[in-house]
Amino acid sequence: MDDVEGQVKDEQLDPEREARRRIALSQIRQYPDAALKMAARPVEDFDDELRGLVERMKRLMEDANGIGLAATQVGILRRVFVFQPSEDEVAAIVNPQIVERSEETDVADEGCLSIQGVLVPVERASAITLVGRDENGEEVRYELDDVFARVAQHETDHLDGVLMIDRTTPEARREALSLLRPRIVLT
Ligand SMILES: [Zn+2]
Repeated sequence: MDDVEGQVKDEQLDPEREARRRIALSQIRQYPDAALKMAARPVEDFDDELRGLVERMKRLMEDANGIGLAATQVGILRRVFVFQPSEDEVAAIVNPQIVERSEETDVADEGCLSIQGVLVPVERASAITLVGRDENGEEVRYELDDVFARVAQHETDHLDGVLMIDRTTPEARREALSLLRPRIVLT
């Protein structure tokens, strides 16, 4: 998967897909929305409401052309995210925990559906073990590496109110924030 930059797939879309992407992005909280800085609470009930949330998040992630989306990004402060654990799979994980991280790390550029138009280098463990439950309450365990380990670490951070710009170098953070500063247009 070399066409992926962090949380966002980089590919050309036809006009209809591009329209769907814009609608999806309009439903995803954008930096500096306060929800993005808040820690999510553990999920206790594996009910239809949770499954409905997961379905909605999977659809938004796909339409937005992302490979991961955390509940905090849609303003729901619950510990759940959807992601691609492999090239052709989409899954939800509830109350996720990273129980093992490789000592080896990689630095790569990351993007975020909530911080559009910005890529920043982030150092992450190269491989992780992720455990939690699926939306039906069944225990799940993933051994992830490469971009799949990266996206799971990025999404787990979201549930703690931590963003990629909090994890990058001071220089890249400064540059990203200057791009994100609202521009005042005088006409
Ligand atoms: Zn993100």
